[in-house]
Amino acid sequence: MYQKPKGTRDIFGDELKRLETMNAVARSFFGQQGYQEIRTPTFEFATLFDRSIGETTDIVEHEIYKFEVNRKWYALKPEGTAPVLRAFIENKLSLPARFLYICSMYRRERPQKGRYREFLQIGIELLGESEAFYDAEIIDQGKRYLDLIGAKGFNIELNSIGCPECRRAYRERLGTYLEPNISKLCADCRRRFEHNFLRIFDCKKETCHKVYDKAPKITDNLCKDCAAHYDGVKMYLRKYGIEYAENKKLVRGLDYYTRTVFEFKHRGLGAQDTIIAGGRYDLLMKELGGPNTPCTGWAMGPERLLLTMPKEVPHIDKEVTFYVVGMGERYMDEIIRLRNDIQARGHVCISGNPDAPLKQQIKKADKVGTAYTVIYGEDEEKEGVYAVKEMKTGKQTKIQREDFKAFIERI
Ligand SMILES: [Zn+2]
Ligand SMILES: [Zn+2]
Repeated sequence: MYQKPKGTRDIFGDELKRLETMNAVARSFFGQQGYQEIRTPTFEFATLFDRSIGETTDIVEHEIYKFEVNRKWYALKPEGTAPVLRAFIENKLSLPARFLYICSMYRRERPQKGRYREFLQIGIELLGESEAFYDAEIIDQGKRYLDLIGAKGFNIELNSIGCPECRRAYRERLGTYLEPNISKLCADCRRRFEHNFLRIFDCKKETCHKVYDKAPKITDNLCKDCAAHYDGVKMYLRKYGIEYAENKKLVRGLDYYTRTVFEFKHRGLGAQDTIIAGGRYDLLMKELGGPNTPCTGWAMGPERLLLTMPKEVPHIDKEVTFYVVGMGERYMDEIIRLRNDIQARGHVCISGNPDAPLKQQIKKADKVGTAYTVIYGEDEEKEGVYAVKEMKTGKQTKIQREDFKAFIERI
């Protein structure tokens, strides 16, 4: 009798149907948000992950499946971000770019409930955007996806881990605090502090956390720019009406993460309670040999998520493209409402950052190849209209706000 390897699963019947529906909803929903699906190889050259993950992170070296063929080392992909960036650089794609991936990943971890050695991940990556608006946007998109498939009972934790500059100064402060307490820490934490010090907060041991509870936190030691960015993320999340909890001990195990980190956690899942994990990784593209490019994204485990969901998942369809731009932050509410209206009618719609200069937003709209750009600012507000630019002809018309729904329906 043959058996499947430890940590793998056979998926069939109802579970497979539900997973496929979740994938289909992801394709459709993120397609509507302007994300393009990308499929990278199941295996890559091992050096890609050595470069991006390093040996001192949560995906430690021995958790990667490596194999040698003709004196070349390959690795089954343990995560999706580095391959997407590798593909972006290698195929000379243009910025800004939005990618969705739905792929199996492989890690040699100890299997337990909700954790397997081969597991599915749905992830999004938004490349080329540095502003706080976009950190909030991808969190909003994660939440709306979960709402759409009927997931409930999750909460969102948020933190900022700053930039290398903040971390240099902070590491010293933390070191000074930890020095007299070093004997109370576990061996793992003592080693982590040497190599990847933020990760000490990932420790599961209560004795270590007793020390960390009173330790200075990176969140309170951000440089001016990072602090402003973090404030921005929180402001936009409030605008989106998203509830979140700040967790100053939330860090990501990967060296290339900067500033925003977040997790969606589910109370019913026990120790493996994270269903979405993500954040900003402004340093990875350069690390992999590409141009200096701010990036943000997250990954979700649909199999784990499914454990929390007893119900059927709904389905949505996708069609053409709108790009909605606002002239200033005070039009954000209107922009969100407009975008939701358009998407609810089955169209693809991306919203620009209303804080960014109009010219820049229009340029981005042009780059993603939108059919229509909808502009809303002071003049439009006064007149009770939307300015709608047909990108192919360059023709701009004003449409009464009350007539706009009928306009979308005609397209
Ligand atoms: Zn900083
Ligand atoms: Zn520890």
